[in-house]
Amino acid sequence: MKKRIALLGSTGSIGTQTLDVIRQFPDKFEVEVLTAYNNIDLLIQQAIEFVPNTIVIGNELKYKELTDALSGLPVKIFAGSDAISQVVEMDSIDIVLTAMVGFSGLLPTLNAIKAKKTIALANKETLVVAGELIKKSVLENNVKILPVDSEHSAIFQCLAGEGYNEIEKIILTASGGPFRGKNVDFLKQVTLEQALKHPNWDMGAKITIDSATLMNKGFEAIEAKWLFDLKPEQIDIVVHPQSIIHSLVQFADGSLKAQMGLPDMKLPILYALAYPERLKTNFPRFSFIDYPELHFEKPDLKNFKNLALAYFAMDKAGNMPCILNAANEAAVYAFLCKKIGFLDITDIIMQAMHKVNHIKHPGLDELIQTDNETRMYCETLINRIII
Ligand code: MG
Repeated sequence: MKKRIALLGSTGSIGTQTLDVIRQFPDKFEVEVLTAYNNIDLLIQQAIEFVPNTIVIGNELKYKELTDALSGLPVKIFAGSDAISQVVEMDSIDIVLTAMVGFSGLLPTLNAIKAKKTIALANKETLVVAGELIKKSVLENNVKILPVDSEHSAIFQCLAGEGYNEIEKIILTASGGPFRGKNVDFLKQVTLEQALKHPNWDMGAKITIDSATLMNKGFEAIEAKWLFDLKPEQIDIVVHPQSIIHSLVQFADGSLKAQMGLPDMKLPILYALAYPERLKTNFPRFSFIDYPELHFEKPDLKNFKNLALAYFAMDKAGNMPCILNAANEAAVYAFLCKKIGFLDITDIIMQAMHKVNHIKHPGLDELIQTDNETRMYCETLINRIII
């Protein structure tokens, strides 16, 4: 039996790499649903190649162009964010891989969990924003969340066969991004082009900036808290510039397990899709001889304050991580549009975390409200800065 996949965010970096994986295993996986927000040209190509049951374009203005281009193809076509949230409920879907960016992943993921689908989670912001709600829904509906994020896939792989053995702590590795070792004076001046050059991973623009500010690692700490049921003090971060060790678990007896490999997202994607199987691949293999030295250092919280902000938000809990995420999304998009400088991202997040009201146990409506309110407040801050 082939696993039938709904791929949300098929035209992004994880989306296209997921299709690369599926293309290599046509007898194992089948594309049932593709969704994209804006990139209609690529979505058309993908629909023609994979002929899924259904495709959805988030941007409703592109619906007609899409239906015209695919007329004659036996594919159902829908448009709009609500359609993306609803399509995951289709009976014929086995796995929903969530690869959209940011807060937009929340509602489709919640719906997919309620529809009892296995989730391959690439959209970490969903757990950052609404970890408590998601976890509750996962337990109620008895579904699996399989991590696609490389660090969390590493931990998940280290936990295979460990049953109920207690985790003492986990260690998330971080590449340190393109500005590792730089100070605030340097960071003040960095350009968008410099920030978009990640040393090891080829990723979408938003997560590449999050990696440069270290916010990505902060999000990953929060993601790990919910995925593996950990306390904040059980989550350590170590900078490992070569990105060969993808993360580690330390057990109660002091033993450490690490998962290693070349930095290639296709591996964690394949592990999630094929789980619990490991499929044979011809992906390039890692060799110690090519990497005679692997380095490790402390993360620099003084110059990269976003990581400290994320830990603060994780401790404070409630809607604070939602505020953190909304402010980060607003600020990163403003930086991508060259409206603000690199360090303004941190300032905006800090101010939003001060300003927006803290709610201890927010429901879904309160999270949506927090997200809106935070973005609106950040817009006023951004308009004051615009460079
Ligand atoms: Mg990661």
